Amino acid sequence: MSDRIPTGERMYRGIPVSVGVSHGKVIVLGDAARTILRREIRPEEVPSELQRLQDAVAQTRRDLLDVQRQVTEALGTHEASLFDAHLLVLEDEMMLAEVHQLVGEQHINCEAAYHQVVEKFARALGELGDDYLRERAADIRDVGGRVLDHLLGRATEQDLRHLPEPCIIVAPDLAPSTTAVLDRTRVLGFATDAGGTTSHTAIMARKLGIPAVIGLGDITSRIRTGEYALIDGHGGTLTVNPTDQTLFEYGQLKQRRAALDERLAALRDQPAITLDGHEVILAANIDQPEDMPSLLQSGAHGVGLFRSEFLFLNRRELPSEEEQYLAYRRVAEASAPHAVIIRTLDIGGDKLPASWARTGEQNPFLGWRAIRISLALPEVFHTQLRAILRASAHGKVRIMFPMISSLPELREANACLERCREDLRAEGLPFDERLEVGMMIEVPGAALIADTFAREVDFFSVGTNDLTGYTLAVDRLNERVAPLFAPTHPGVLRLIHLTVEAARRHKRWVGVCGEAAGDPSVVPLLVGLGINELSATPAAVPAVKFLLRRLRMGEARAAAEKALAAESAEEALAISHSLAAHSAPELFQSS
Ligand code: PEP
Ligand code: MG
Repeated sequence: MSDRIPTGERMYRGIPVSVGVSHGKVIVLGDAARTILRREIRPEEVPSELQRLQDAVAQTRRDLLDVQRQVTEALGTHEASLFDAHLLVLEDEMMLAEVHQLVGEQHINCEAAYHQVVEKFARALGELGDDYLRERAADIRDVGGRVLDHLLGRATEQDLRHLPEPCIIVAPDLAPSTTAVLDRTRVLGFATDAGGTTSHTAIMARKLGIPAVIGLGDITSRIRTGEYALIDGHGGTLTVNPTDQTLFEYGQLKQRRAALDERLAALRDQPAITLDGHEVILAANIDQPEDMPSLLQSGAHGVGLFRSEFLFLNRRELPSEEEQYLAYRRVAEASAPHAVIIRTLDIGGDKLPASWARTGEQNPFLGWRAIRISLALPEVFHTQLRAILRASAHGKVRIMFPMISSLPELREANACLERCREDLRAEGLPFDERLEVGMMIEVPGAALIADTFAREVDFFSVGTNDLTGYTLAVDRLNERVAPLFAPTHPGVLRLIHLTVEAARRHKRWVGVCGEAAGDPSVVPLLVGLGINELSATPAAVPAVKFLLRRLRMGEARAAAEKALAAESAEEALAISHSLAAHSAPELFQSS
């Protein structure tokens, strides 16, 4: 974070999560922007205060139903079901009774009483160290904020459906109920206090193609509604009161980006073939069927990772076989003739569906997660496997198991799959008998014995996010150790190398579906190590394709060999980056 005082320009640094540059007026959302004054009221004012509260709750109820209807139309009933939880929070009798008590007995205004109660409930839930309950705490604050906005007469200003002019939204974090309905034609960018590239803001911004910078600390208290700012989703900065010089420089950057984007878009229908004729399958990662249009637009050839767990989150009941089948089938059909790799549930760690009790684990990332959960809950696993198998009758579907760490575990998963196949045959339901089955390499121990696994899978997909975290003992969500999170660490590269070698010996293929697959600076190493498929977020696909088409496999192999012997992650990255920058300088000039 740095201040450039003489010009009044102030620049704040965060984590860039969605590319693009824009500038305009700022709207600050959230508690820091709401001034809630505590005021004593006379006893005879109590009934009218309580009436005001009742009106605000009723108005908020109408708003939520309105938003729910819009979300149903735009995204379907599943997304809209989130608002059922919001409506329950809004009408929570315990909360409202406490507000009534405060107003009636302590004679304070209803804004102050309501705010106090909302904070009390949200804090209590947030402190329980449970991710599901933390999300509910966010719901309480979100709904509470809507009621307060009505009480304070600010609802219009905060209603993102009707923004008066294009603006940058600054918020502690953005709630899904807010982002789902915003007037996207008038949102220039998102800047938030909270960090974490898996936050709702990051995911939503990337999908909408709106520049976003998160993890800006206390930005909501450092900037005011109406101030002018520039957001840079490439470099991860928010510049308040930018000087003419800054605006000019960013204007040039934007122009260069636009020109580059045009060149990248022209490659959409081209294959990802190196200059010396090696084809790399370039696929993309999705979370839900709704992501398919942007995947197709990106020029990706198929889905290298469908994170199926997103069908299970933010809801109270598990999705039925039919619901899953329809979702997988939709993706398989949209992706044809290219393949779709559906990863079985990877929940646990930081993701658990509402209906499953938390176990209060000390180290959830080392705990009950992914395949361990599926094997412990055979009914859930069977339902999902049956749905995937049935969808395989409608396209080129592959199954992948996450977080496999031992051969018995893989065998148990394969045995479940075999039982599902037998059941479907007996029921006369069609599926692809030759469907490929693979596993993720995310656990270092699994990479070390990849040759053992290679006999019993059709392919490997390296999850560099978890493989890096587990190999280097670095929490992938912790900002404090973020600089240590290095997929080019020679230790990680050697594990990938072992995996590729084992696969080759058994004539299997290997993909990478972690974030590294979408980083042009790392891609030369991955293909040089012999990776056959890269699967990146759709937004990263065009640049990776551009680079692959300018690489020479011989040079990439030489770079990978040097990197394997490098002394540090930085040295290995420099080797890879230098080849990438030499092969496709355009990709790096405009950053
Ligand atoms: C990975 O670990 O690299 C991966 C792709 O899985 P996820 O990010 O969903 O854990
Ligand atoms: Mg993973």
